[in-house]
Amino acid sequence: MNEKLTACPLCNSQDHKLYLTGEDYFLTNERFDIVECLSCGFRFTNPRPTVASAEKYYQTKEYISHDSGEGGIMPALYGIARHFTLRIKFKIVRRYSPGGSILDIGCGTGEFLHYCQQKGLVCEGVEPAGKAREFAEKKYGLDVKTDFLTGIMPTKRFDCITLWHVLEHIHKLDETLKKINGLLNRDGVLIVALPNCNSHDAIYYRKFWAAYDLPRHIFHFTRDTLNALANKYDLSCIEILPQKLDAYYISLLSEKYKRNSPDYFRAFVRGLQSNSKARNPQIGHSSEIYILKSKIS
Ligand SMILES: [Zn+2]
Repeated sequence: MNEKLTACPLCNSQDHKLYLTGEDYFLTNERFDIVECLSCGFRFTNPRPTVASAEKYYQTKEYISHDSGEGGIMPALYGIARHFTLRIKFKIVRRYSPGGSILDIGCGTGEFLHYCQQKGLVCEGVEPAGKAREFAEKKYGLDVKTDFLTGIMPTKRFDCITLWHVLEHIHKLDETLKKINGLLNRDGVLIVALPNCNSHDAIYYRKFWAAYDLPRHIFHFTRDTLNALANKYDLSCIEILPQKLDAYYISLLSEKYKRNSPDYFRAFVRGLQSNSKARNPQIGHSSEIYILKSKIS
């Protein structure tokens, strides 16, 4: 079952226009519209699955096991990228948050938190997907809650909160961001990684762009709309970092959706071009990491 939003989740304006019609290339082949708010430019999937009906779009082995290292060249590439990104993610956390505690929302099977734990951080996670959560708890002994809004005590405080490609999936955006701001310690840092639908590869592949990931992604951010969102919740963006590998990975998936087979050469060229055009601040990278701090401290 789908729900139709009448107001923009970012600025509440009632006026929006169709931006593009895409497809769930990954799983169901159902079509979904992305609309653009005429007032603030925010793009969101509309209509979108309800919280209850969204579950069926995640029910595939492959989606969960982006992580679990099964055969094939795509998972293998993903595995290599993941190893690098674990280190890179931790370095980013350390650079901006010298404190000792971290909450990872949407922690999946817990590899990143496990890495942080080994480096001495006090870790907590949130993961709604049952199998992934159990894996994180059993294999790494992590403390993982099912639901962020009900599972994490509002009196808790963290030095760092991370959402690695998670915010674009969250229905209760409003409550989530309000709560996050309250959970940050003085000088605490919020780290949010997101696809950027103004990037060169997004504009080039248009409806085939894999990072729309419809209908699992219900929000489609740009630098401007992420900054507007941050402002709304008294957060300010202190830096934007690139995720350069994503330009190649997303281009490869997009080629697969567009031509029914992955074209490594085309994807490589497109990824290269995307990273080169990203120097223009109006464009940015395929995926980016936003470092945010609370304005209230
Ligand atoms: Zn709006």
